Amino acid sequence: MNISFDLDSTLIPCGNEFETEYRSVIAKLLGVEELRKGTKELIFQLQKRGHTIHIYTTSFRTKNKIRKTLKYYGIKVNTIINQKENQYVLRSKNIDASKYPKAFNFDLHIDDSKGVAIEAKKYNFETLIIKPSDKNWVETIKKNIKNLN
Ligand SMILES: [Mg+2]
Repeated sequence: MNISFDLDSTLIPCGNEFETEYRSVIAKLLGVEELRKGTKELIFQLQKRGHTIHIYTTSFRTKNKIRKTLKYYGIKVNTIINQKENQYVLRSKNIDASKYPKAFNFDLHIDDSKGVAIEAKKYNFETLIIKPSDKNWVETIKKNIKNLN
């Protein structure tokens, strides 16, 4: 399955909303961002089970910046869709939503936004909403993906 992850408030914290993986001072100086605790383990396990992992964000971070952060934590993903590309593709398809994972062939999109959940109903795509406060978020995702299979 092609699984995409949102960044802000899903994998990357806005403030202190969840615990994060270890990051060195030098990495911080180099612009590596914080990453939600458990992200590494979760993505590795999903990839081991044969899933393909993507990033789908409405932030304007460059793909290089996103890849730099992921690489620091040893994470490799397939596609990265940032807001620049998202806007371009959604406009070309005349879709008036903030996100539409089907446009990029993502089967399941994981996000923190209730707005995305509403769009999922309207545009008929699969999404899983994870709260920043969910301490068992890794388990929540794994359970849900098992049920989908
Ligand atoms: Mg978000």
